[in-house]
Amino acid sequence: MNRGILVTGGGHGIGKQICLDFLEAGDQVCFMDFDEALSREFEAQYAKLFYFYGDVANPKSLKAFVDFAMKKLGRIDVLVNNACQGNKGILSDLSYEMFDYVLSVGLKAPYELSRLCRDQLIKNQGHIINIASSRAFQSEPDTESYASAKGGIVALTHALAISLGPAVRVNCIAPGWIEVNGREDHSQTDKAAIPAGKVGNPSDISQMVFFLIGQSFITGETITIDGGMNKRMIYHGDWNWEYRG
Ligand code: NAD
Repeated sequence: MNRGILVTGGGHGIGKQICLDFLEAGDQVCFMDFDEALSREFEAQYAKLFYFYGDVANPKSLKAFVDFAMKKLGRIDVLVNNACQGNKGILSDLSYEMFDYVLSVGLKAPYELSRLCRDQLIKNQGHIINIASSRAFQSEPDTESYASAKGGIVALTHALAISLGPAVRVNCIAPGWIEVNGREDHSQTDKAAIPAGKVGNPSDISQMVFFLIGQSFITGETITIDGGMNKRMIYHGDWNWEYRG
């Protein structure tokens, strides 16, 4: 379709699958990633794929990325804010600086990129897709930084949808466990614990990106894709669930 697509963290995993599916659809894709070796290798395989090196936590790199993308693509129709990394929290004594870094990657970068792409997205009646996590809604111990970034991006999504609508639709996807390294040896118990009976794969997320950008009456929403994990009620002693604290 020759749309201009921007993806962060496109060198591996879910972001890479999203890039591949847009290329397959005939679009031109620009991605930012700080894993240079993986990303250069990926870029070399596709004429309509353009790689920009940088850490999304650095606002100067974000500006340079959008300038680069405009030079290469000439337009921006879809922004996918995908890059993020997990980190720990209060039980690990995670420092203020490290907590702030996780927010810079997972929350401040999506805001800044939305701001930098705003005029293009309005002009082209485009879409922003944010990638959160089921950890925006549920927690394990010692996950404050990641949970906060992911909770923040869910709220950023509805705030942006209200500010930028009706021209731009803004939605979010909250994945559960997605296998990004091609492993197929998950234990039967791991699989059975998930109501869908399996671990997800990057296409499960990418397909939802395409569904959402095909919609005109869905905006501000977060769609959870976790194989039903967040719907399972767990009480020690019921239905074989055992708490080993
Ligand atoms: P991944 O580690 O497979 O790939 C992430 C890519 O982003 C890598 O290429 C990495 O180099 C890049 N990246 C990370 N931080 C960056 C930064 N600061 N600047 C530039 N590039 C950066 O990760 P994934 O599993 O595909 O995760 C993609 C998104 O999905 C993330 O937002 C993640 O939080 C979310 N998510 C993943 C899962 C899962 O189970 N895989 C579950 C819930 C949410």
